[in-house]
Amino acid sequence: MNEIEGIANLTRRTAGSDARAQNVAAGTALSDLVRSTLGPNGRDKMLVGNGTVVVTNDGASIVDRVTIDSPAARLVAGVARAQSGELGDGSTAAIVLAGALLAEAESLVEDGVHPTSVIAGYHEAATRVGQVLDEVATTPVDIEAARRSLVETAITGRWDEARTTFLADLTARAYRAARHGDAVRLENVTVHGVPGAATTASELIDGLVVDTDASSTSLADIPAPAPRRIRDARIAVVDDELTIDSPKSVTRYTVADATELERTRTFERDEYRRFVETLTTHDVDVLFCQKSVDDRLRTELGRAGVLVFERTRQDEVHKLGRATGARPVMRLDELDAAAVGNADDVERVTLGGGAFVIVRSASSSQVSLLLRGGPSHVVDETERIVVDALSLLQTFDARPRLVPGGGACEVTLARDLRRWGRGVGGRESLAVDAFADALETIPRTLARNAGHDPIDALLELRHRHADGETHTGLDVEADQFGDMVARDVVEPVRLKDRVVANATDAATLVLRIDGIVETAGNGSGGGGHHHDHEHDHSHAGGGFRSDPHGYPWAISH
Ligand code: ADP
Ligand code: MG
Repeated sequence: MNEIEGIANLTRRTAGSDARAQNVAAGTALSDLVRSTLGPNGRDKMLVGNGTVVVTNDGASIVDRVTIDSPAARLVAGVARAQSGELGDGSTAAIVLAGALLAEAESLVEDGVHPTSVIAGYHEAATRVGQVLDEVATTPVDIEAARRSLVETAITGRWDEARTTFLADLTARAYRAARHGDAVRLENVTVHGVPGAATTASELIDGLVVDTDASSTSLADIPAPAPRRIRDARIAVVDDELTIDSPKSVTRYTVADATELERTRTFERDEYRRFVETLTTHDVDVLFCQKSVDDRLRTELGRAGVLVFERTRQDEVHKLGRATGARPVMRLDELDAAAVGNADDVERVTLGGGAFVIVRSASSSQVSLLLRGGPSHVVDETERIVVDALSLLQTFDARPRLVPGGGACEVTLARDLRRWGRGVGGRESLAVDAFADALETIPRTLARNAGHDPIDALLELRHRHADGETHTGLDVEADQFGDMVARDVVEPVRLKDRVVANATDAATLVLRIDGIVETAGNGSGGGGHHHDHEHDHSHAGGGFRSDPHGYPWAISH
């Protein structure tokens, strides 16, 4: 058998409309999966697999943890991942919108509109949306207050009002502290979720918190009891291992010779003394070492009252520098007064059953959020939400303008598209209208998830917008229609912009595929199209598997 025949035998083709219908079904099914989680009243999904339980209502977390075989659905999932990774929010909205765009496209195609016309119309509509967003966005008067409102909007529905306000304030303060001059440095914020205690026990610490169980950083084992807390600590950071040079490099010797042995011992004793003296002359109380510290030196330092941590992670070495002003040195010989940092307090604590080192310093440019509240799966989710909220604030700072949430913005955009679409010629105008309908899936879904009739809610919103109430949305917390800007239900304009653009890209990519070639060598059984965002997230089981009967994928147990 020659190679060409071999390939022909190993592949199966699905062409044209069948392929498109399959892909659209896969994309919309993914969107159906996450739809019920949209908005503050969205329900949580419990994801179980590989012995772990994750409770989340974040679209990206969900698609990250299910195995998706359909390449088309993977395209859509990739959008959600890009969305939450880069912008910190909007992954569910992007998937829901992509699904709606696909469903609308499919019905146009069934009516005889060519997919290329749909794609062209969608692109025109998306470009128009970008322009209109610029016009409807408002500039907040008080940026600090706007940051708190943005975080509150992004995290509402997770906790009661008091805790939401508390965490939004904490996150906004951490963000402000992490700013470095005009720039934002998110790596200047360390976030740790620690199970136990109340959410309101969470705190923002000026300095660095090291989770010594999760990090490689560990307290050096010494015979004497190490202090739990050192005030006004002077800190040295060594960015290498700490051991004396082998005497071999200094002098050649054979241990068989008693005087040589004695010389070696003297050499070593002097070296160790020199190390300890270097630290004591600079009054160093705490030493962090990026690699290991040799046994004897540990003992000597312990005796000299220096608290020694070893195997400190590289990123933590830099963070310690920012927290204490210590300049990491490669060798102790290089330690001078300027390289020694200061902390108000270095404390070893046990929190939620784990061991931590807290380095506090009022002048620190490194801050740490210590998040508390509930069992580990709850606090893990809190940690994810806060990390996302910090990225969201960065998204806002890149273009500090706001659009109303609660579906208000989408109703405005849909209204504009329908009017503007009349000027777009031919069949593409149908696609522009379809785009408007797809945008309204967002307010409809928010209403449905809050227990409202989605059609009634949408009609009410359209009606009020026609009367000029362009900020009116459905506040599902208060269960009222109202001015979303006045109610502080707001989103960064850049987020909305990216949600629409990403969803459009995903939908049009899927629509463009006009054939599926299944190759036998493809382990997942999916085929054909590969994409930058495609990852194999097979680490958590339970989820989607290929259905042997030809349907692109189905939920397996
Ligand atoms: P995503 O993953 O897309 O961020 P969310 O579940 O966070 O999904 O829901 C975001 C949507 O919820 C946005 O459309 C936002 O405007 C809306 N939203 C947030 N707070 C409210 C509120 N109080 N009332 C109505 N809608 C809200
Ligand atoms: Mg969100």
